[in-house]
Amino acid sequence: MQITELSILGYERVVEALDPASGLHAFIAVHDTTLGPALGGLRAWKYTDREAALWDVLRLAKGMTYKSAVASTGLGGGKSVIMLPANGKTPELFRAMGRVIESMGGLYITAEDVGTSIADLEQVRLETRHVTGLSRDGGSSGNPSPYTSRGVFLGLKATLKARTGSDALAGRHIAIQGAGAVARHLIDFLVAEGAKITVCDVAKSALDLVRAVHPQVNIVSPESIFDVEADLLAPCALGGILDDNTIPRLRVKAIAGAANNQLKEPRHGAALVARGILYAPDYVINAGGIINVSCELLPEGYNESRSLTKIDRIPEALTEIFTIAERQGISPAVAADHLAESILRAKTCPAVPVGLTSAPEKGSQ
Ligand code: NAD
Repeated sequence: MQITELSILGYERVVEALDPASGLHAFIAVHDTTLGPALGGLRAWKYTDREAALWDVLRLAKGMTYKSAVASTGLGGGKSVIMLPANGKTPELFRAMGRVIESMGGLYITAEDVGTSIADLEQVRLETRHVTGLSRDGGSSGNPSPYTSRGVFLGLKATLKARTGSDALAGRHIAIQGAGAVARHLIDFLVAEGAKITVCDVAKSALDLVRAVHPQVNIVSPESIFDVEADLLAPCALGGILDDNTIPRLRVKAIAGAANNQLKEPRHGAALVARGILYAPDYVINAGGIINVSCELLPEGYNESRSLTKIDRIPEALTEIFTIAERQGISPAVAADHLAESILRAKTCPAVPVGLTSAPEKGSQ
């Protein structure tokens, strides 16, 4: 196993690991540990090349710092990615990844993410204890996805309310990109309140799972999801999807979904404002999973009711961010960043997930 330190400006520590025996080629990025050890998921993906994987882990790690700051988890931000080899996932791959995580000495704690499952993390756990979100049976907090979905659902309603004056879902049309773990729970919540769903996925197997429970959902091709006329688009696949090509096509009033780093570039937050589309900052609305796993690290051990209480404050955080954005004439994405940066500057987590009273005034950016 070869572990190389990479010097990246703005990041506390970044390592690249190569293990020919297992086929592992992975990166761990620790962005900022001002508020605590860096916690963020382990992504396993068929990246086109090394640069794509490094770019992904860096932006995801920074996003985790901001997410944890606003969600008041007492944690810093980090992330890891595995470049999936041609033969796909193997137990040896995840054991090797566990050894890389162990070499960080607790600076980085991992969890599930796109392309990884609890079974994969169980392999990682054989080599390191710095793993969260394992099965409930072992005293862990379990799969974070249902908690992320709960936060996204509540945040989606708060976004609809801020944009349209009502959070009632009966008869509303919600377009969803991706039918993975988070989206499927989200669809359950939305259907239960009478929403009409249009969904897409690149994997037929994911759509089959949705159709088996909710045969009435409308399915469209991945490319046409941006053209669907709906009340709200919930991006629940991968990041970087709101860009110069997709934003002009959107026919929705608001965007609120689980995917990390939905804006291709920061300027796309302003492009959404210009189109009158209210955007729920991704790392604020999708914090349910990290909030839940962070409750595993409480001195008294995992406590679900503390987790749910915190997750249920996500709509409050979003509503305050929308208000500040409007008052200061900035996009919600920028308002959320201001908040996270003010929390990091103060070097302490607020007692509640939002501390907007300390947000800078208009024009200070
Ligand atoms: P998942 O892997 O279970 O689902 C993602 C789905 O998106 C897959 O079914 C995949 O086939 C599909 N997909 C990929 N590219 C697509 C495209 N171009 N068009 C349509 N579908 C596409 O992942 P998940 O756990 O549901 O997470 C979804 C998103 O939410 C990710 O961006 C993840 O980082 C983010 N997120 C997840 C959690 C969590 O708790 N799982 C927490 C915070 C953020």
